[in-house]
Amino acid sequence: MRCPFCLTEETKVIDSRLIADGYQVRRRRECGVCHERFTTFEAAELLLPKVIKNDGSRQPFDENKLRHGILHALEKCPVSSDDIERSINHIIYKLRATGEREIASKEVGKLVMEELKTLDKVAYIRFASVYLSFDDINQFSAEIEKLKDS
Ligand SMILES: [Zn+2]
Repeated sequence: MRCPFCLTEETKVIDSRLIADGYQVRRRRECGVCHERFTTFEAAELLLPKVIKNDGSRQPFDENKLRHGILHALEKCPVSSDDIERSINHIIYKLRATGEREIASKEVGKLVMEELKTLDKVAYIRFASVYLSFDDINQFSAEIEKLKDS
């Protein structure tokens, strides 16, 4: 890493420790040329990626929109609110875990489908038929067949 004082790339870590309950690493570095010392912090990137819409525009991830979509698919299905919230948390966790700054909306849709599959098969098919916009009946029956095996 480059020295912020003399801009050489010859710096080394002289101390490294966990801080913030282990969620961050604090490192002391020393420049091999000017011998100045400086500190860096390392933490997991917890920002959620922006969503790339089909028209190419970017939008901040919207948890309420996600919840609305899932609730809509689950309308009249026997699924508890706890299970729905758990699924939403799974999706958000997976989005964070990608470490990407941007993610295509269809990738988010795939994550939703995975969760719906475990929550309710009818809701899954309902969502998948709209989301995948099945071109033909064969593709649709292929999804139904996959469900029978799972
Ligand atoms: Zn330096």
